[in-house]
Amino acid sequence: MAKLLRASSDGSAARRPPRALIAGAAGFIGSHLVDRLLIEGYEVIGMDDLITGRPCNLAHLQGHPRFSFVEHDIARPFTVDGPLDWVMHLASPASPPKYQQWPVQTLEANSFGTHHLLDLTRAKEATFLLASTSEVYGDPLHHPQQEEDWGNVNPNGPRSMYDEGKRYAEAATMTYHRHYGLPVRIVRIFNTYGPRMDLHDGRIVTNFIRQALSGEPLTIFGDGSQTRSLQYVSDLLDGIVRYMACDDCGPMNLGNPVERSVSSIAQMILHLTGSASPIVYRDLPQNDPRRRRPDISRARALLGWQPRIDAEEGLALTIAAAREAMMLPPEPFEA
Ligand code: NAD
Repeated sequence: MAKLLRASSDGSAARRPPRALIAGAAGFIGSHLVDRLLIEGYEVIGMDDLITGRPCNLAHLQGHPRFSFVEHDIARPFTVDGPLDWVMHLASPASPPKYQQWPVQTLEANSFGTHHLLDLTRAKEATFLLASTSEVYGDPLHHPQQEEDWGNVNPNGPRSMYDEGKRYAEAATMTYHRHYGLPVRIVRIFNTYGPRMDLHDGRIVTNFIRQALSGEPLTIFGDGSQTRSLQYVSDLLDGIVRYMACDDCGPMNLGNPVERSVSSIAQMILHLTGSASPIVYRDLPQNDPRRRRPDISRARALLGWQPRIDAEEGLALTIAAAREAMMLPPEPFEA
């Protein structure tokens, strides 16, 4: 756990819980991170403008003595009272339909928003975390993707508000580190899923689960042979917490290296939901990556980290949560 003791102004060591600001706290990953830091003993301030996040993701924390929430757009200036140990930037629309729907807000969250959070980190003498993405690798030239790869990205393509936005956020983060000596961490998150995902966010896992549970056809874009590597959210959180506790600041891939075809993911979801939905095929959208898989050697070596939840277990947990969100009865118990 980070810095439990901090020197007070009269020089004595005052005991207080460590304090973190999580921007993007009402989102899928942000809300799980809030839960995780509260379990670790942190006081957490959640900040979110609710552009893609949902208050229901934090409803269970109402009245929690170590949690508070501020509704605010990080692209606009703000201050936070009191000390901070960690400033964690997860605030950005993240799924392709959402960043297409909010293109300017996506650019602003990753540019102005990143600067505001970096300046706050400096003022509080805290450590900064940027939630970056595997999309910085673009249409990858090497497989699997290593942190040293610079990426193959179209700077003005239809996804540029997101992938170039994140690349700018990485540049800003490393510039503050090199120029001001700011302690920073950059996680490059690969496709992550789990409970609390917005079932209408247009991502592959949520599309398939929602379609299977409502008896609609599962839509596969392309022929289904393209691959995805799916990481369960608790594995990501383990990686983030370990990364915050080590001294390394370079970018770190966090993802599940098991690569599956989109067809096999659809079949697994049909099996786990017991759905009889058919599969239909549609044209592949422009710039959709055919393959993406993390090389996690760095995280293994530096953090002793690797994913522990396999797809069957993670998808079953996600399906159970989706049933609840859709107010469907739970899967009947089979002895
Ligand atoms: P999400 O949309 O569920 O969460 C993002 C949160 O940020 C939302 O609550 C949204 O309201 C908030 N937000 C957006 N712009 C904001 C602003 N200007 N000010 C304040 N709040 C703002 O998405 P997620 O999947 O939880 O992703 C969280 C972070 O992780 C994002 O930065 C995303 O780019 C990154 N990431 C996610 C994945 C993934 O597979 N889920 C993969 C790579 C990277």
